[in-house]
Order: sequence, then C-alpha cells, then structure tokens
Amino acid sequence: MLLEAERGLVAGYCRRMVADGLVVGTSGNISVRSGELVAISPSGIDYQELSAELVGVHRLDGTPVEAPRQPSTELPMHLAAYRHSDAGAVVHTHSTAATAVSTLVDELPPIHYLIALFGGPVRVAGYATYGTTALAEQLTAALAGRTGCLLANHGAVTIGRTLAPAYSRATYLEWLCEVWLLASAHGTPRLLPAEEIQRVVAKLADYGPRDQAALD
Ligand code: 13P
Ligand code: ZN
Repeated sequence: MLLEAERGLVAGYCRRMVADGLVVGTSGNISVRSGELVAISPSGIDYQELSAELVGVHRLDGTPVEAPRQPSTELPMHLAAYRHSDAGAVVHTHSTAATAVSTLVDELPPIHYLIALFGGPVRVAGYATYGTTALAEQLTAALAGRTGCLLANHGAVTIGRTLAPAYSRATYLEWLCEVWLLASAHGTPRLLPAEEIQRVVAKLADYGPRDQAALD
C-alpha cells in the first residue's frame, strides 16, 4: 500500500481528534505530505470506521493516486497550505473555543507567551464556504508567517513539519482560545508586547526535549 505509514498516522490522529474533543461527528480533516504526494482523510467518514486503506493519496495538484473514497472537501485548503509553507502535515478542527473566538475577533491577541508556538498573534481567515478555493485563499493569507490560524465562523487550522507538532498545535490553540474567552468574560485581558512574543519565538527553538514535538 502506497504511503502506508502516513495513511495509518492520518487515521490514528483522526480518531484522536474525536477522543480529544477537537471535533464532533465527521467534522475536521487531517493530511500528511510525503514528497509530491498527500495522504488526506476521506470526506464525511465516521472516524471510528476510518482505516489506513480508506485514507486517500493525491498528488499536490489534487489528482487521485490511490483514493477509494472522495477526499476531504477541504483538499484545496490543505493543498494551499502545502504550496505556501514548508508544512509536512495539516490539521483542521472545529474545536469549541477556537470556533467561538473565530466569531468574535480578527486575531487571537497575545494573551499568553505560548502564542509564540504559532509565530505570533493568530489571525482569523475571512469567512468563505467550506471546501471552496475561496476558503483556501483566505487560509493562505491568514497563515502567512504563522503555523496556525482560525477560520471565521468555522474552526481552526494548524500545520507542522510532521503530524505530531501540527496536532499538538491544534490542542495548544484550543487552550489559548479557552484562556482568552475565560479572561475576556471577566474583564479586559492584559496582553503581551510584540517584542516579548518574538523573544519567546526565539527561545522556544531551544525548548525541549520534553515537548520538542510541539515546536517543529
Ligand atoms: P470533510 O468531511 O469533507 O473533511 O469536511 C469536514 C469539514 O470540516 C469541512 O470544513
Ligand atoms: Zn471544517
């Protein structure tokens, strides 16, 4: 089977996304890039039934290579992320706090130093219908120089050199959004200055090894 390891990883992390409460139902999708090929979760699948075989393999132009099911409707968005970054994996969730924040602001402010995991304040991509190239274009703009963004009135996207850090960022982003929502409910959160976030971006490069996977 082509890209057996990558397809197994996609299936495993999709199930983990449900277990971790980052998606409900068949929402969300995950892909991994290997050279000129991309393994991506199929559209509308019950994650408990997802096996490596059902994860499709496509070329970077979207054409199927080995894909028993329809690919995720967000294939254009994943391909755009690969075209415009050095990502090796893309995780798209509908996690609750991230989705709530995506309806409130144009950018998740620097409320905690760990926003440096994303390269700086996390932008909110303008709304466009799911699965469209218009959404892929909005994502490209919001993701520039970042490793994650929110999708207005929709959810979140995170990237990494491999799937482990891309997924880890999805959980950190959800936590940051929870913190911001909680703090905002009780007052006006104090924010960190841009130079402090950049200092932490540089410092995190040496962080680990305990959490190294979050930083790749
Ligand atoms: P798929 O089931 O087609 O991957 O779509 C889920 C989703 O989150 C669309 O934005
Ligand atoms: Zn979605």
